[in-house]
Amino acid sequence: SAARDRYIKKTKTVCTYCGVGCSFDVWTDERHILKVEPAHGHANGISTCVKGKFGWDYVNSTDRLTSPLIRDGDRFREASWDEALDLIAWRFGEIREQHGPDALAFVASSKASNEEAFLVQKFARQVIGTNNVDNCSRYCQSPASKGLSLTVGIGGDSGTIQDIENASLVITVGSNTAESHPVLATRIKRSQKLGRTHVIVFDIREHELARRADEFHRPNPGTDFVWLAAVSKFILDNGLEDRDFLRERVSGLDEFRESIRDFTLEYAERETGLKAATLVALARQIASQERVCILWAMGVTQQCGGTDTSAAISNLLLITGNYGRLGTGAYPLRGHNNVQGASDMGAQPDAVSGYQKIDDPLAVQRHEREWGVTLRPERGLDNTQMIDAALDGRLKALWLTGEEMSLTDANANHLQEGFEALEFLVVQDLYFTNTARFADVILPAAASLEKEGTFTNTERRIQRLYEVMPPLKGTKPDWQIYMGVADRMGYRWGYTHPAQIMDEIARLTPHFAGVSYDRLEGYETLCWPVAEDGTDQPLLYTERFNFPDGKARLHAGEYRPRQHAPDATFDLHLNSGRMLEHFHEGNMTFRVPGITEKTPDSFVEVSPELAAERGIQSGQWVRLVSEYGAVRLQALVTGRVSGHQLFVPMNARKAEDAVNRLTGSHGDATVNTPAYKDTRVRLELLHDV
Ligand code: SF4
Repeated sequence: SAARDRYIKKTKTVCTYCGVGCSFDVWTDERHILKVEPAHGHANGISTCVKGKFGWDYVNSTDRLTSPLIRDGDRFREASWDEALDLIAWRFGEIREQHGPDALAFVASSKASNEEAFLVQKFARQVIGTNNVDNCSRYCQSPASKGLSLTVGIGGDSGTIQDIENASLVITVGSNTAESHPVLATRIKRSQKLGRTHVIVFDIREHELARRADEFHRPNPGTDFVWLAAVSKFILDNGLEDRDFLRERVSGLDEFRESIRDFTLEYAERETGLKAATLVALARQIASQERVCILWAMGVTQQCGGTDTSAAISNLLLITGNYGRLGTGAYPLRGHNNVQGASDMGAQPDAVSGYQKIDDPLAVQRHEREWGVTLRPERGLDNTQMIDAALDGRLKALWLTGEEMSLTDANANHLQEGFEALEFLVVQDLYFTNTARFADVILPAAASLEKEGTFTNTERRIQRLYEVMPPLKGTKPDWQIYMGVADRMGYRWGYTHPAQIMDEIARLTPHFAGVSYDRLEGYETLCWPVAEDGTDQPLLYTERFNFPDGKARLHAGEYRPRQHAPDATFDLHLNSGRMLEHFHEGNMTFRVPGITEKTPDSFVEVSPELAAERGIQSGQWVRLVSEYGAVRLQALVTGRVSGHQLFVPMNARKAEDAVNRLTGSHGDATVNTPAYKDTRVRLELLHDV
């Protein structure tokens, strides 16, 4: 009826789950979400996945925090915003006074907006005077960003999601694309169905896309570098490379050729378990295809050598001339809705917004003028180092926004000891999370539907989100919370709307020079880098790579084998990752009744071979034990995993059974990303449950 229609509101927003960044209209009647409708836009326009369509009940969950909480012995008491923010400002000031600025650290949220991530690093650098700031890309995609920075100069996807459909060959490596990036996978599947794209999947697990692929190859865990190097060597040894492209646009060929000298087909076959004939066929196929895209994710990056393997992917694309044209290029698939943005905005220990290094004279000059401070030239602590610094007494205070770090970082038990060692921990979130249990002050944040801002998806596309409903009573948007503490510490930022923060970002960040809320109105989007006149770059490297001489650089990397291959005590390899219905640890999706009913808890996938060997049946309770901890789960016997490999989803209903109780602290040699995928366990049958 007309009367009813008066109350119904339609608002454009961007999905708050994965890095595909689907945008849609949300139809609401006050706080009731009536309908979510995919918008004809860029990243989606064809569908939404189950999370984007049905995953919004978490916003109205009765678990939402609605008042700041302050620790009082073993309990928490409710406090006013003034009291909580006064306490934070006072304790931060006191700790800085006693121990110096580097005794404090800050973690931005990859679920919050660009503007909010920008303010976290501004707070760290301007108000406190430290570079101890990071975000959760440290746990996932930092190796991919680094590998691409080393080879082509920009740590992001080289083209758009839509453009992947133009590829004649799509290769995915260590990516469960259909479950982790569902709408992006839909585009690949559609293009394959139309006969336009040949799809090859490399993974240790036979997930949905692996089953649909034209070819599925299962290398031994942690050996992707080896087959990539062997294929590159075969191409170069047999003159299959793109010589014109290499001569005109790439440097470092001799050093690269030398670095892969030992990666013969025989060695690759032994190390990876893949047949030499498979690698030869792959090399010939990549070299002869017109347009090749390679997509990768955590199976590559969460290893001891994630950076070098990411660079090896880029090397392979470079020697075959697969950059700078439609349907070609490198696609590291970002996990969170705004994990690309959190890094872009400078929530990193060695760079301010737009990946400007903290000792870059021009960046220093710009920030000095804008903020009235000089950037400190020393690299700060990353997430992993923050915990070590807490344990050895260097770090006293930590402010976490929207990070369930106690369950999502590797080696959860070690991490929780780090939290306990801190003098002062601030946790800002929607709920009383497992991490919040360790806090001294807990701040209730507004959800993405309750605020304005921008997100940047995996293809570097910046999109606006609008306020669908006002913040739940008692909560505040993150940007207002940071302002409240900055204000109390003597820095009056004075923003009245996130658009003003974006204007500041544009002034300080060459890649964002032409970004403004006006240019992002409604469904308008921009893919950075954006020139001052508003021209954006959906496809990178058409003319030049992002180095002073315009040439890409082949990277002479190193193979870093697993450190925790199974042995006599821990005889099984453990893999972990996402499942379609849940997002990461599950704090949001477990608060969506429809999703929880279908997928109520975590489990461990056991191969039919292992099940037969040990007498394991689906539904049976088992205990997994590693050198770092133990968890209890129900077994699911499935051909998705093979042999002595197990798989456990990242989401866990009970914190004590989270998979990261089992993972270790060792990590990527270059950027410290934990090697989650390099984990070994033993399995014990439980008969007394
Ligand atoms: Fe949201 Fe990702 Fe699903 Fe799109 S594919 S609806 S961004 S979770």
